[in-house]
Amino acid sequence: LPRRESFMLREVRQFPKMREIYGSLVFDKRAMKESLPKEAFNHIQAAMEGLQRLDSNIADTVAMAMKEWAISNGASHWAHWFHPLTELTAEKHTAFVTADDNGFPLESFCGSDLMQSEPDASSFPSGGTRSTFEARGYSAWDPTSPAFIIKSPKGGTLCIPSVFIAYDGTPLDLKTYLLRSTEAVETRALKMLKLFGNRGVRYVRATVGGEQEFFLLDRERARKRIDLRFCGRTLIGSPPPKDQKQEDHYFGTIPTRVLAYMEDVQRDLARLGVDLATRHNEASRCQFEFAPIFSEANKACDQNQLTMEIMRKLAPQHNLRLLFHEKPFMGLNGSGKHVNFSLQDNEGRNLLKPSSNHRKNIIFLSFLTSFVYGVSEYSGLLQASVSTSGNMHRLGGFEAPPAIISVYLGETVDKIINAIESEGQSEDLPAKNKIDLGLPKLPEILAFDSDRNRTSPLAFTGDKFEFRAPGASQAMSVPVTALLSVWAAGLEEFMTLLEKRINNGEEPITAAVSVIRELSIKSRKIRYEGDSYKNDWKEEAQKRGIVKGKTIPEGIDLFVEPKTLDMLENISVFKRREMEAFHTIRKEAFVKSNEVEMFILRDMIWEGVLPSISKQLLLEKSSYDMLVGQKIENMEKWSAHITKLAEAKVFLIEKTQELVDLKEKLSEKDVHEHALGIVSEVVPLMEEIRKMADSIEIYLSADNQFYPNYRSLFSLSS
Ligand code: ADP
Ligand code: MG
Repeated sequence: LPRRESFMLREVRQFPKMREIYGSLVFDKRAMKESLPKEAFNHIQAAMEGLQRLDSNIADTVAMAMKEWAISNGASHWAHWFHPLTELTAEKHTAFVTADDNGFPLESFCGSDLMQSEPDASSFPSGGTRSTFEARGYSAWDPTSPAFIIKSPKGGTLCIPSVFIAYDGTPLDLKTYLLRSTEAVETRALKMLKLFGNRGVRYVRATVGGEQEFFLLDRERARKRIDLRFCGRTLIGSPPPKDQKQEDHYFGTIPTRVLAYMEDVQRDLARLGVDLATRHNEASRCQFEFAPIFSEANKACDQNQLTMEIMRKLAPQHNLRLLFHEKPFMGLNGSGKHVNFSLQDNEGRNLLKPSSNHRKNIIFLSFLTSFVYGVSEYSGLLQASVSTSGNMHRLGGFEAPPAIISVYLGETVDKIINAIESEGQSEDLPAKNKIDLGLPKLPEILAFDSDRNRTSPLAFTGDKFEFRAPGASQAMSVPVTALLSVWAAGLEEFMTLLEKRINNGEEPITAAVSVIRELSIKSRKIRYEGDSYKNDWKEEAQKRGIVKGKTIPEGIDLFVEPKTLDMLENISVFKRREMEAFHTIRKEAFVKSNEVEMFILRDMIWEGVLPSISKQLLLEKSSYDMLVGQKIENMEKWSAHITKLAEAKVFLIEKTQELVDLKEKLSEKDVHEHALGIVSEVVPLMEEIRKMADSIEIYLSADNQFYPNYRSLFSLSS
């Protein structure tokens, strides 16, 4: 260890300071200012802020500057970088230099290349909105997220963040929906501020910061397990007993090799303009977390994708295996992606920040109430957005938020809302008095309120909301799109009521208090300040009527709840047809990943577990036979043990055959029936198989272990 430490110190010294490299591979404001004529620079800035449509006339100028900048930073290729509905990122690389008809080198990349590209769309899922013969789609530059260079050993690629759409305009990517949702919430928030008489404000932006949890394992050991290789999680393996503490002490600090990895990741991401504040997550062994500095929603989602990409790329260099799966290990904490979010005006003011100023506070409460009301009406959309196969094993456990969506406001805000609500019952009190109830004295320190409820899926954390249900492997844009849509819908309702009152001559702040009251009462059922892990909450939630999909497929179906479809169409985020296609894609993804798991489990049992049991049986039986005839007491216990091993083997043979048959049977059903079958038949059967395999694992000699066990996987010390 000491030798490694000094190696680390040397490494740190020889690497450049973060602030010197920060953003060096991003075609950001600074790079543009240096390389663009003033007029073009101003135009592009306005387009990047979303204030103006990009004029194709300046595209050539920008493309030229971007190309020069990219080549001088070592890039040889360019690509439109987009997020297909599969949740991964995709890119098609094109060289900057190609040969012309005479074989001479020709530098390409002009304005039209920058603005639009035409990857073959046929291999990306469309959920049936498009048949393969009309598989034409194009990607179009999204100037609101800056271009960047991904380095490769021999050069690099200029990546141009893009949307990806079919020729009939149907989105084939996640970003288009995300951008529609930011537009929906931002325009409404701006209108709301104007209703309150704030005329100076020019625009509002949704802000997002996603905390990324992950596991790191030793690569060689992880490689020996096909479940980790193909499914990203263990399908068998028994957790070490809870009191096995020896190694835990070591994990009080970040192991040196993990630290080296994290520093590499941070450095590479700093070059790409992603600012990570790292910290060790103590929840599980080998589990860690990165939290970025929050930014504008679209950029934050791109940056999270980029973070995951860079993390994946660098892990093998440190001989580590990175896991983003939501539940890689049974009995251990799973991994989430906590999505923090708020709204911010063009002056950088956070609209969810409480204030000691009475007027500002009412405005804050109006934005907060709008969101809570949106959730109470459309909680199904939020649940749908986190209903993925990975989350199937995480949500509802005792370490993650439950699948029932509720909102936690924290004691202070809850009290204020309750006060506003109850005052409403004595109608004759003048409005001013109603909120004098301690309200104007609301302390500034509320923003630093450390009052936390880790059991709630959606919590107000002082000056932002935090959605804790999204899974670690998910593309953040799906839950973010859902959150912002729900908020936009809540704002819409809030403003309808507010405008009515203002038009009747009420003063905006007074009117807002009444609307807060009205909508808070309506959304009472979704607010819960208690411990969401408790079983009584399930009963209580059932009574309140807020329990929606009980399984993941049912959760996915919440995407197409009639009222959600109407809402999404009203705020122009999803057309009905688009959502129906998206819904199908999510179902298919659920089915596919479970099918892979069925295959892999069967293979692991036959390749690993069954032969191991036979080897152990040989060992036991031969030594047992040697001793037969000698007077050893309780020999029958040993023979019973041998019988137990043999019975386990027979059981596993039978059950895996059942699994294969089941897979066959289900593959004939349509995707929805198939998904239901997975929940009702496959999952319980796989659990049965696992239980048996795990119960045998502990009786196998070290030589006869079928795969590296949990204890060995959790050793990172070498
Ligand atoms: P916590 O105590 O919940 O861990 P932190 O202050 O560490 O809170 O922030 C967690 C994440 O929330 C960080 O990624 C941070 O950038 C993000 N965040 C903070 N404020 C905002 C905001 N106004 N909008 C969006 N994200 C935010
Ligand atoms: Mg947090």
